Amino acid sequence: MTERMLKFVSRDRETPLKRSPGERRRDFDEIYARFAVEHAEAQASRCSQCGVPFCQNHCPLGNDIPDWLKLVAEGRLEEAYEVSSATNNMPEICGRICPQDRLCEGSCVIEQSGHGTVTIGAVEQYITETAWDKGWIKPVKPSRERPHSVGIIGAGPSGLAAAEELRREGFQVKVYDRYDRTGGLLVYGIPNFKLEKDVVARRTTHLEKSGVQFVRNFDVGRDATLAQLRAEHSAVLIATGVYKARDLVCPGSGNAGVIAALDYLTASNRTGLGDEVEAFESGALNAEGKSVVVIGGGDTAMDCVRTAVRQGAKSVTCLYRRDRKNMPGSARETANAEEEGVIFEWLAAPKAVRGDAACANGIRVARMELGAPDASGRRAPVEIDGAEVDLEADLVIKALGFEPEDMPAMFGAPELKTTAYGTLRVNPSTLETNIAGVYAAGDIVRGASLVVWAIVDGRKAASAITKQLKATATTPVAAE
Ligand SMILES: Cc1cc2nc3c(=O)[nH]c(=O)nc-3n(C[C@H](O)[C@H](O)[C@H](O)COP(=O)(O)OP(=O)(O)OC[C@H]3O[C@@H](n4cnc5c(N)ncnc54)[C@H](O)[C@@H]3O)c2cc1C
Ligand code: SF4
Repeated sequence: MTERMLKFVSRDRETPLKRSPGERRRDFDEIYARFAVEHAEAQASRCSQCGVPFCQNHCPLGNDIPDWLKLVAEGRLEEAYEVSSATNNMPEICGRICPQDRLCEGSCVIEQSGHGTVTIGAVEQYITETAWDKGWIKPVKPSRERPHSVGIIGAGPSGLAAAEELRREGFQVKVYDRYDRTGGLLVYGIPNFKLEKDVVARRTTHLEKSGVQFVRNFDVGRDATLAQLRAEHSAVLIATGVYKARDLVCPGSGNAGVIAALDYLTASNRTGLGDEVEAFESGALNAEGKSVVVIGGGDTAMDCVRTAVRQGAKSVTCLYRRDRKNMPGSARETANAEEEGVIFEWLAAPKAVRGDAACANGIRVARMELGAPDASGRRAPVEIDGAEVDLEADLVIKALGFEPEDMPAMFGAPELKTTAYGTLRVNPSTLETNIAGVYAAGDIVRGASLVVWAIVDGRKAASAITKQLKATATTPVAAE
């Protein structure tokens, strides 16, 4: 079967069809089509089946990429799905939104030899979308039910991955979330044009059919303390993400028209889902007709600029204080934003927001250069004396990153230990916190990170919980 593979020498890399920028600007639909079967097979056959698969080593989940690429090239899709889903609870989501250029595809050996990487993410998405279409994805049916219950706080990717794994083991799983919908940042952070919401809702439905119970609009801290949940469940997993936005510190940063990225994205996502959002209707969280400046260079900033384009902004500019090479966001998303008409001001930092308490009417920007490396090892941006410019801006969006909330205070659990960054302190092998039977996973442990890492943690915590509960198991309850 090797003759089906190694086609990178004769076949060029192709991504799934991408809609034209002009068309994309007019709606919030996903921008890539799905591969047709012949394209998926052809692209999968470009894999060189390396003895040491660097792609797999650089996938946080250790996905068995060469194997499922080979199975796709051979037309054995159901087997490809079995292999792909063995290590990932939501491959169709990772296939869409992982920054593959920094992970699996970034270390593809044929890319290193100048042939263009195998389109791993697109093939991964294709496999699981086909599995949904064909009905291969069945609700989890544990071979036996266990009496222990696990409470999961947070229905983001980390909590959802853990829920599925624990259900597979037969535990009774209850997921609490303060929002009215499940999915965490997959629903209220990441825009539709990267990840359509029905793709996330389908996963929730799958878990519900698998017996996972969801308790929505339940804010731990307000509706129960951590101790109360711990008393109710055999184990508890905290997967609450990080939501405290880093603030802009400069004159005028408190003016009306200076808004937080997540408020803006949540309003847009809610509107897309059919909710009535007062602040969107009033224009406070709507970019239509405005000159928009987004401050930041990560995924959140990219999502804001591209949302503003789709809302009909007059102009959209992104300010980033380092250069393009040092941007933390995905290179692919930056390129997409540029195609859609976003202007990037590299090496530029906000000095002051002009305007008053009623409205912003511009932003003063300092030009920067890169100096000596800072504590992170990256060259620090340094302001160039006297090099300032004024830009038009009546909406300024702060996308400067997120930090954890004060978890011990929020949960009424002063004994819960945190790190110097406010993230939860855990045993790295089990993800258990200092409170016995209370585990933590995802962004609340790592700080703002990626969906794929949240899934890795959710699976790891589920495995440790399983081990602990099985060790203390009483007689299992027979499956119905
Ligand atoms: C705008 C934006 C774009 C992003 N784009 C990408 C991308 O393209 N690719 C990528 O890989 N990653 C991206 N990320 C990062 C990714 O979304 C996160 O790393 C990931 O969602 C973290 O998962 P989590 O389960 O730890 O937390 P979350 O997804 O944040 O979920 C946490 C859940 O916990 C709930 N919760 C919090 N506190 C409580 C409480 N007290 N009681 C009950 N429930 C609570 C929240 O309501 C939420 O539903 C992006 C992030 C943002 C903000
Ligand atoms: S999960 Fe992400 S990093 Fe891993 S193979 Fe899929 S797209 Fe690549």
